[in-house]
Amino acid sequence: MPQGKRNKIQLRRGFKTEAEKKSIEFRKQMSLNSFDRLSATQLAEYFGIPIYTPQEIEGLSTQHLNTLLVTGHDCWSAAVIPLPDKKHIIIHNPKHSSVRQESNLMHELAHVICEHNCEEEDNYIGLPNIFRKYNEVQEDEANWMAGCLHIPREGIVWALKKGMTEAEIGEHFHASMDMVKYRINITGVRAQMNNARKFRYNK
Ligand SMILES: [Zn+2]
Repeated sequence: MPQGKRNKIQLRRGFKTEAEKKSIEFRKQMSLNSFDRLSATQLAEYFGIPIYTPQEIEGLSTQHLNTLLVTGHDCWSAAVIPLPDKKHIIIHNPKHSSVRQESNLMHELAHVICEHNCEEEDNYIGLPNIFRKYNEVQEDEANWMAGCLHIPREGIVWALKKGMTEAEIGEHFHASMDMVKYRINITGVRAQMNNARKFRYNK
């Protein structure tokens, strides 16, 4: 499940480049361009991972459903649940905005793509015992990978070259304004384009 952004991000060398490559590779395999929207649902289907809301999970008690959807609906986003034979399902919170649901799902898919396993101890963090805890490095990797999957760097270059506004970029990729701003800043695309323009003018 996504955790708040921490100041210090711990990513192993080469991870950022690999994540961008994977985002483009998955799009190619689905006959999409690097700048096309790839929805979390499409990506989940590609990996054969069914997505459920709590109401669709058999065996959850009324009390659990009430916690997930009413009293605690703002306390959780989504969770990936491993099944035997390396299979997974994702359960997600349908009470969040549509763009937030999209990034929640991308985050959980990122955990699967990164082949993260939860630590045995301290596996559960309350609510029904479906939420497992990843370590901080895994959360950083999932956050980074999810951002690349949602809005690839090449997609930002394409959009900014077309003169799209942040709102238009958000609409194109079905992403929140926070996600659009975060990706534009973290990839440094706008800064690089501005520098290149300055360089051209100064010549
Ligand atoms: Zn997570």
